[in-house]
Amino acid sequence: MKVIRTIAELRSEIQDRQQSGYGPVGLVPTMGYLHEGHASLMRKAREMSGTVVISIFVNPIQFGPGEDFETYPRDEARDVALAESEGVDVVFIPAVQEMYPQPTKTKISVAEITSLLCGASRPGHFDGVTTVVSKLFNIIKPDYAFFGMKDAQQVAVIEQMVRDLNMDVTIVPCPIIREADGLALSSRNVYLKPEEREQALVLSGSLRTAQEAIQQGQAATAGEIRAHLREYISRSPLADIEYAELLTFPELVPVEDSYRMVDGDSPVIMALAVRFGRTRLIDNALIQPKVGGSHV
Ligand code: AMP
Repeated sequence: MKVIRTIAELRSEIQDRQQSGYGPVGLVPTMGYLHEGHASLMRKAREMSGTVVISIFVNPIQFGPGEDFETYPRDEARDVALAESEGVDVVFIPAVQEMYPQPTKTKISVAEITSLLCGASRPGHFDGVTTVVSKLFNIIKPDYAFFGMKDAQQVAVIEQMVRDLNMDVTIVPCPIIREADGLALSSRNVYLKPEEREQALVLSGSLRTAQEAIQQGQAATAGEIRAHLREYISRSPLADIEYAELLTFPELVPVEDSYRMVDGDSPVIMALAVRFGRTRLIDNALIQPKVGGSHV
């Protein structure tokens, strides 16, 4: 496995591997502090690609003022060891100066679907994401790029960008990986104090019980589900709900309260953002349309 820090060296390494006939290039973009969620993306990439590249870059332009850019957890040695154990071929770890030698005057911006959910509370965040992902796509020219459904809005936004700009890459969404007790893995989970960590289970708990209620026919409308999510999360005194929304996926159109969960022909996403002290957690679950009498 090679650890590469410059764009020039990365381009030449990928070109060499292409000329040697390694086959498709798979890219897993990350901000590091890798965990089992990232590892699942690397495994999927390994299955589908002859060359697996992961990037580790805490991208300053996707953080707003007062967010955790400076304090974002970092552990390069551990990340490199984990990538190696997953059979990654190239780890790209550029410095900020390498990616942004001057402040960028060009930004990629996806409209509409970036103005709600996380985009509403983090203005400019998705422009930062789509800009850096475009740069990585231009540098690496991957055949496949792997993204976790943990960040479902990010998947929708990147798929929109790829379609709109005819980018020659296939986006592969990968399932959310959870701790045994249900908490979705996140690099930011290390910020949680023990009591917050315990109460953070209300995110996955509210989604799980909502799914059960839909399956058992106890909650039939989007309004009932919204109420259930809010009520369940509010049982945690430390939880501060930023949003608990139901939207079509991947179009991200909020569904009406009267919408009957069994009627849809498009998947509906239940999307949550909840603050515990200074830590902001997100989670979500997809509800597939009802086919032949049961949800799939
Ligand atoms: P990050 O390093 O947090 O920017 O995440 C890098 C990639 O890993 C993104 O595509 C995330 O959606 C994905 N990811 C993060 N946590 C998880 C998880 N628990 N399950 C699946 N994918 C994840």
